[in-house]
Amino acid sequence: MTGASFIGYTRGSLAGPKSHAINPSTQEVMEPGYAAPSAEEVESAVQLAASAFPAYRKTSAAQRAEFLRSIAEEIEESADALAARGTAESGLPEARLRGETGRTVGQLRMFATMLDDGSWLDARIETAIPDRAPLPKADIRSMLRPLGPVVVFCASNFPLAFSVAGGDTASALAAGCPVIVKAHSSHPGTAELVAEAVIRAAQKCNMPNGVFSVLYGSGRDVGMTLVTHPEIKAVGFTGSRTGGRALMDAAAARPEPIPVYAEMSSINPVVMLPGVLGEKANALAEGFSQSLTMGVGQFCTNPGLVFVPEGSQQAFLNALEKHIKNAAPGVMLNAGICLAYRDATAATSRHQGVTQFASEVSTNQGQGSPMFFVCSAQTFLQSPALTHEMFGPASLIVIGSLDEITAAAKTLEGQLTASIFGTDDDLTQTPELLEIIERKAGRLIFNGYPTGVEVCSTMVHGGPYPSTSDGRSTSVGTMAVLRFTRAVAWQNCPQALLPDELKDSNPLKIPQMINGKRA
Ligand code: NAP
Repeated sequence: MTGASFIGYTRGSLAGPKSHAINPSTQEVMEPGYAAPSAEEVESAVQLAASAFPAYRKTSAAQRAEFLRSIAEEIEESADALAARGTAESGLPEARLRGETGRTVGQLRMFATMLDDGSWLDARIETAIPDRAPLPKADIRSMLRPLGPVVVFCASNFPLAFSVAGGDTASALAAGCPVIVKAHSSHPGTAELVAEAVIRAAQKCNMPNGVFSVLYGSGRDVGMTLVTHPEIKAVGFTGSRTGGRALMDAAAARPEPIPVYAEMSSINPVVMLPGVLGEKANALAEGFSQSLTMGVGQFCTNPGLVFVPEGSQQAFLNALEKHIKNAAPGVMLNAGICLAYRDATAATSRHQGVTQFASEVSTNQGQGSPMFFVCSAQTFLQSPALTHEMFGPASLIVIGSLDEITAAAKTLEGQLTASIFGTDDDLTQTPELLEIIERKAGRLIFNGYPTGVEVCSTMVHGGPYPSTSDGRSTSVGTMAVLRFTRAVAWQNCPQALLPDELKDSNPLKIPQMINGKRA
């Protein structure tokens, strides 16, 4: 490993200020140091991406599919090195790193399969009606086209699946957009290993130089320079609300505003209904405890808020207390995240009307302890601070009448997910609550916990602000490609000049909608 940025096919210099990964389990400072790129190197990465775009957007879907599959193969070649370095940099167990490698290559191959099919382009043809009265109708054809160079910010909590070659990068490359990645300072070595794999694949597949770069350095400096650069046309981000919001505001203030697809904070409310609590409070508490503590709670879909109807709560709370008291503290991803977790849970515990339940809270450096808090719906309704994300293995249980729970659900901000547990009878008796949570969340889960996001064509991993910056989008699943495209229409364009996807002869044999009917 060298510690240098990837400026297209060349490596940056090592002259800039260096930062090191810190092993969160041992506090060891890891080598090498990662050098921030100079302003000239950042500019060079952007200019290379801009110059690669005209060639890359013209690559065929088959060529881009081959590129994505080649990246997946190269990452698999590095699986052992990634497991070792990723574990040391993140404190996550090896099995998780290996599982995430599988998910990452699976995502890349999913987008390759999507490209093979062609329906994602939404090719539409409306043929001319020259003799229509009172006005003739023109021949109009449309399909999705790539936006241009995209910046992707790596996430701290998914060093592979939401990082250098994660879902944002895979969907942007599939769309035909060059990608510049801003590596996360928590796992720069993992980023370097994945970047090498992507560059090897790009060279093997003869992709234009500049189709992919990875830059180290700080978000406020390198990240902001990229987001405000006129050649950059969209941004993908996963992280804090503060960081995401800063990027959204900077992008909106540009002379040419650009879309920022930021996945930020979500507390993923869970509603337990009385019938199901009466039937299986113990099993619900066990499942909840597993969902809450998995990965030391560092998932964007962690269940941070649970509504339990008054009168049905006791068996559930008793069982949950036992599980949480037996749950061990775990190493968190980095010192900043651990400190933020401790501050957020301490603030909740100090809140009047809130009771804390936990095993002995660990003061070991870098560790987060599982815990939950209980309060009444009245307290919750009067305290907006109780809706703040506690990123880690902590959740707030709110006890109230169904009317109070419905009123509290109405006050929630946008969420990635909302889960509801109920018997058939429970569910049919709460239509208003179901309607409210549908308006609040990107994914509704019935009788299941929110952690574990399936990567598939129907997944929506998005939701109204502030869970994401744009509730019309998803960062997981094939619909993620739409974020990096825009629809273009060709009116009365000669057949020879049309993209192949829109020609009458349909040489690529892709699905076309012709005069309102799917062929
Ligand atoms: P972060 O602080 O938002 O950082 C993510 C990336 O954005 C980093 O590359 C960072 O650069 C950059 N960045 C942050 N603020 C910026 C700004 N004002 N301008 C430009 N770039 C900026 O997130 P994190 O480090 O992953 O974790 C911090 C907190 O975020 C956690 O404690 C948690 O609350 C939340 N989080 C939430 C989720 C979720 O899915 N809900 C996931 C991860 C984290 P640097 O490298 O310079 O820091």
